[in-house]
Formats: sequence, C-alpha cells, structure tokens
Amino acid sequence: MILAIHAITGAVVSANAGNITEAAFLGLVSHYLIDSIPHTDYELKQLKNNSIKTSFREYLKIAADLLIGGIVILFFLIRRNFSGVILVLTGAFFGLLPDGLTFLDCQIKDKNKNLFTRSLAIINAFHEKMHSLNKNKKIAAILQLIYIALLIFLIFSL
Ligand SMILES: [Zn+2]
Repeated sequence: MILAIHAITGAVVSANAGNITEAAFLGLVSHYLIDSIPHTDYELKQLKNNSIKTSFREYLKIAADLLIGGIVILFFLIRRNFSGVILVLTGAFFGLLPDGLTFLDCQIKDKNKNLFTRSLAIINAFHEKMHSLNKNKKIAAILQLIYIALLIFLIFSL
C-alpha cells in the first residue's frame, strides 16, 4: 500500500486513542491489516539496482506520496488539541514505520552483521508475510479504491 494511505490510516485509527502507547499500537496494527488487502507497492528491493534516472523517478513518487499524506494529516489535525495532535502524529508515524524499516533493511547487504540487522531482517520477513498474495492488478486497484473511499469517509466523520 502506498505511504500516504498507511500514514492517514494510522492517523485516523489513533485519533481517539486513550494514550500514546495505544496510538502507537493502533498505527502499527493498521499497517499490517491494510497490507493484507490486495494492493500494488513500490519495488523497494529493485530501487538500488535501477539506473539513477529510474531511481530518481521512484524517489520522486515516494516524496509526492509522503507530501500528499502529510497534507491530508495536517487537515486532519486542524480541529485537534495538543494531545490529539500527538496521538494522530504517533499513529501516523507507527502506521509508516514497517515500510521505513523495510526500506532500511533493503539497504543492508550483510543481514547477519549484528543484532540490529538480524532483527530488521526478521521484522521485514514478518512484514512480507502479512502482504496479500493476490497478483491481479484489477482486483488490487478496485479494493484500493474502495479502501480509499472508506478512509475519506472516516476522515470526515471523526
Ligand atoms: Zn507495508
């Protein structure tokens, strides 16, 4: 799933959390749950093997994705008090965290280098297992659109 969707989902599910730990937990769980919906993803593993021009285009897409997510979350923050802002930002951060860790893991060549790199590889293997096995792009596109419509509804109703 694209980053904006993860960040916005993390923000929405944690908006009414009781505390920061709950917001972090909800953001993290939301990531794995929506990754189990059939969807398309960035090819992070291939990024470092691509030409500079192709990689630049992919990084530009990722930057635009994060920017859009950030703008929607800013809109979502307007009506919140300070503790509400902290909860929403925590949920958004933890909603993105697994993909950030995957990106980091893809940059590491020697996965057995130390405890951190080994832990990262285990976390990433779990993350990959949570992804849908569906390879049908039409089904993925339809389900993503339904999910985005649901998310927009939730943003305006919370
Ligand atoms: Zn993910």
